Amino acid sequence: MKAKIGFFDFAGCEGCQLTVMNLENELLQLLKLVQVVEFRELMTERATVLDLAFVEGSICRPGDRERLQQIRNRSKILVALGSCADNGGVNLLGSDRSLEVLRQHVYGGDLPHLYTETPQPLSAVVKVDYRIPGCPIDGQEFLAILQALLLHQQPELPGFAVCVECKLAEYPCSFDYGQVCLGPVTRAGCRAICIDGGSHCRGCRGLIDNPRTTPYHQILEKHGLTVTEILDQYRTFNIGEREKGS
Ligand code: SF4
Ligand code: SF4
Ligand code: SF4
Repeated sequence: MKAKIGFFDFAGCEGCQLTVMNLENELLQLLKLVQVVEFRELMTERATVLDLAFVEGSICRPGDRERLQQIRNRSKILVALGSCADNGGVNLLGSDRSLEVLRQHVYGGDLPHLYTETPQPLSAVVKVDYRIPGCPIDGQEFLAILQALLLHQQPELPGFAVCVECKLAEYPCSFDYGQVCLGPVTRAGCRAICIDGGSHCRGCRGLIDNPRTTPYHQILEKHGLTVTEILDQYRTFNIGEREKGS
């Protein structure tokens, strides 16, 4: 019997769900193994029970908590899809200002129907079984994690840094061009896609489990950079992680 899977979204840009839909070459094969029973971007049907729920976005609107709890109640396994769901991601970028100040900046006048709270990750409301990091997620990693779950195996995220993938691909190092790069302390799994694209790593996949900070400090010193400059970059996707103290 095919596993019943569903996709759900809360506050986010829906880029992680789009990454799944962009897996055009693999989707037809995938549909031989799973039955997509709920996916707002693709269909109107709703399911009563699911084997796997992939949930994107942060919790911040009235009714979000209750809806997420309902998804949890009808799903055997719940996976946080992307950094908004995993740790709050970019949704927390404004968390150093009050909601009133933010509303004023964005909307100006009084718009009571747009009530929001400070965004929270899914784990603040329900038990999250697994997570897929990144902003957006990596499509191939999504497939690998889905495959592991379908085989009742424990999905694993890479324990090494983006630098490893970058060096293996022989990309030029961003530091040599005067750009701060978070690759030495960020979890691999994206194939160093930003460096491939001519930019640098901003840490969207979060810290590796045991970042080797001493060599990283040495890299920073060598290039005349400070930890503060690194934290400014890290802040973009990981304010939620820093607040958790990790
Ligand atoms: S993690 Fe990034 S790509 Fe995914 S929904 Fe959030 S903002 Fe969009
Ligand atoms: S610091 Fe950045 S650009 Fe340099 S090797 Fe590591 S990931 Fe690549
Ligand atoms: S290179 Fe860094 S910022 Fe870019 S996708 Fe990979 S982890 Fe995210």
